Amino acid sequence: SKVPSITLNNGIAMPQLGFGVWQVPDDEAATAVGHALDAGYRSIDTAAIYGNEEGTGKALATSGIARDELFVTTKLWNSDQGYDSALRAFDTSLAKLGLEYVDLYLIHWPLPARDTYVDTYKALEKIYADGRAKAIGVSNFQPDHLERLLGETSVVPAVNQIELHPQFQQAESRAAHARHRIVTEAWSPLGQGRGLLEDAAIGTIAEKHGKSPAQVVLRWHLQLGNVVIPKSVTPSRIRENIDVFDFALDDADLSALAALDSGNRLGPDPATFDMA
Ligand code: NAD
Repeated sequence: SKVPSITLNNGIAMPQLGFGVWQVPDDEAATAVGHALDAGYRSIDTAAIYGNEEGTGKALATSGIARDELFVTTKLWNSDQGYDSALRAFDTSLAKLGLEYVDLYLIHWPLPARDTYVDTYKALEKIYADGRAKAIGVSNFQPDHLERLLGETSVVPAVNQIELHPQFQQAESRAAHARHRIVTEAWSPLGQGRGLLEDAAIGTIAEKHGKSPAQVVLRWHLQLGNVVIPKSVTPSRIRENIDVFDFALDDADLSALAALDSGNRLGPDPATFDMA
């Protein structure tokens, strides 16, 4: 199945569905990413803190897939915020990935109490100007963090990667992104497989379309215009999660899903999260 691309605000094309590798150990990452590439994924989402940039890079290198057909995202960890340290951290990530450039480089968390994300982002602007990241952006930025960034820097983030799933729909952030032509990328798009996929309303929609609950949830994201990066290390699920381009949710399905927004945040609150 062919994954459509979304055009970012700088003209770069990003696959709308990719493969996330959080919590995949480095020595299993090459295998998992290899399965994903075999299944047709071309976009991989990693981060320095995941500790699997090397395994990920190994899979990319041995795949034989042309570099310009791949879309690789990594993220700058909290302990590397600041202008000079961000430049160094980026060099380390590139070396571990074994790449000459990444497609997307993100600041992982805003850490508002530290007040370093503006300087950090200026380092990303330098990396972008040098062509070592085809696009730059942020993750876990709330609308007030974005406003501050937009006021003090010049490159509008291409992407904001935030927690988003049917039980945590992030209407306010999505509206802010739309105003600034920032693409919304959903992390934990399946709600981490905890509970969401057993929801009765999702089960009913899945039966109606002859698809799985995970496929219904991924389809919901795609029809909202989100980029999604589901994670699995199980080959059958890796294939299932990309097999979502042969059906469409109708208005009744979409309203039933809209009603599941319960404010059930699974991860930390970006306003207060601060971890070295
Ligand atoms: P997810 O929502 O993708 O859920 C993954 C889990 O759901 C799997 O471990 C498995 O238990 C289950 N699952 C997957 N496919 C399934 C299927 N077809 N049927 C049934 N169960 C299935 O959760 P995630 O890993 O937290 O998020 C995806 C990616 O988002 C991560 O790998 C990472 O790349 C990114 N992420 C980013 C941040 C951030 O702060 N920027 C935070 C968390 C995750």
